[in-house]
Amino acid sequence: MSILKVVEWPAKVLETPAETVTKFDDSLRAFVNDMFETMFASKGIGLAANQVGDLRRVITIEIPYAKEDAESEATKMWWHDKRFTFINPIIVKKSGRISWQEGCLSFPEVYDFVDRSAEVWIKAQDEFGKDFEVHATDLFAVCLQHEIDHIDGVVFFKRMSRLKAERVRNKMLKRGKLDVDEKNV
Ligand SMILES: [Zn+2]
Repeated sequence: MSILKVVEWPAKVLETPAETVTKFDDSLRAFVNDMFETMFASKGIGLAANQVGDLRRVITIEIPYAKEDAESEATKMWWHDKRFTFINPIIVKKSGRISWQEGCLSFPEVYDFVDRSAEVWIKAQDEFGKDFEVHATDLFAVCLQHEIDHIDGVVFFKRMSRLKAERVRNKMLKRGKLDVDEKNV
């Protein structure tokens, strides 16, 4: 297993739609393991293949249950603390609205509210090509929509108001420029 490099916007791969996976072999499963390792190392709760420079429709998710934030054990959901691999995921149904403050490993230090569906029903395949379905709510639904956007080549500021999106763009472009300047020193 190895930790992969997470690319930051404006890398082109983040705005390129990924391709359907047709080969469910050992190299795909090794890649999925690397994605989990990369995600844990970066303290992310979700990762899309585009973010490590790969254009396959592969998503990994694991949302830790943060006990300290919880009022009681009742707030723990079935999807907390579980590893999910979604390959070729499709949203078959969605309902409701939810607004969550999102972050993204490809946009360090950027956090802002994004409006999404409160519930989504997803069909996908696992790393062995087996079909499965999930009904996701709350943060799991938010995370899935964020990651499915990634494999469609849609970064999260595209879901924000024009003003907020402009702020994010400028912050990232400035950050990129500072990196270059620092390297020149
Ligand atoms: Zn992201």
